[in-house]
Amino acid sequence: MMRLPAFDYRVPREVGEAVSLLAEYGEDAKVLAGGTDLLPSMKQGLFTPKVLVSLRGMAELRGIRDAEGGGLRVGAATTLRDVARDPRVLALYPALADACSTVATHIIQGTGTLGGNVLLDTRCTYYNQSAFWRTALGFCLKKGGDVCHVARTSPTCMATASADTVPALILMGANARLVGAAGERVVPVESLYTDDGRDWNTLRPGELLTEVLLPPPAPGSAILHRKMRRRQAIDYGFLLAAVRVDGDLAGGLTDARVVVSCVGPRPVVTPLGDLVAGRPLTAELAEEIAHAAARPAAPLTTHGVMPSYRKKMIRVTVRRALDTLRGEPSAAV
Ligand code: SF4
Repeated sequence: MMRLPAFDYRVPREVGEAVSLLAEYGEDAKVLAGGTDLLPSMKQGLFTPKVLVSLRGMAELRGIRDAEGGGLRVGAATTLRDVARDPRVLALYPALADACSTVATHIIQGTGTLGGNVLLDTRCTYYNQSAFWRTALGFCLKKGGDVCHVARTSPTCMATASADTVPALILMGANARLVGAAGERVVPVESLYTDDGRDWNTLRPGELLTEVLLPPPAPGSAILHRKMRRRQAIDYGFLLAAVRVDGDLAGGLTDARVVVSCVGPRPVVTPLGDLVAGRPLTAELAEEIAHAAARPAAPLTTHGVMPSYRKKMIRVTVRRALDTLRGEPSAAV
């Protein structure tokens, strides 16, 4: 049995108190949202914080509120289940509801939070293992070692962004509200990630994600979320993709973007406005979009699924999503 290491547990009642605790304890503190990823990782010895700062005591971080000027403000500690079931989210942001409902299991969706998902640690098959397993192989750059088992000459870690909700959030133009000792700032969700799986997010020391801000959906835009995983019942993805098209599907598109994740430390965003401008979403254009989306992604052996298969399935998955938008059965293989 793997046990949690000892830690101090603090439950601040307001954001200012939480920020003070994070400033006081620095790298000895971790934020505990739902804990569905952090606590298993602590059992595996990946983190040994002296203090966990829980979000449970702060009612202001839970719930979904209408934003001034349209859109929604989702508290970072709102559970994935509450996001997925919210009528406003279902009506305005179905791709986000879909993404939340593909996280792990119903029980985990009822515990895990949107903020926790947005700030999910990067993952790798050589890292997300027990301390015993990692000791046997030898540690790696991300934790305790000096070599990457995936890319042995790489100076950086290639562990992958794996958060189910992030590709859709990026395509929605969502923002994140971050609060720290120096004040608060609002940044695009897209800007939260880096190219190094060790130091994978751009939060400043002691900053807390308090809200995810969803802008009103653009008229005439459609977003679809897709996930591939080995075990449908419960698993992280080995491929995540979200597809957005704007404009008239039959008369002519004005823009398109694809976000692919689980292929590197940050989601890969491919803008396709020049490719699609003025063209109807035909089977031919769908195939061109799918190829263009797959081109920049370079999956490595970070998952127990062959990189060549994951690369191929980017094109197939994007093509299938576009065929769904076209209302056509997809024969993409
Ligand atoms: Fe470790 Fe390399 Fe995997 Fe990063 S990509 S977790 S350094 S093995």
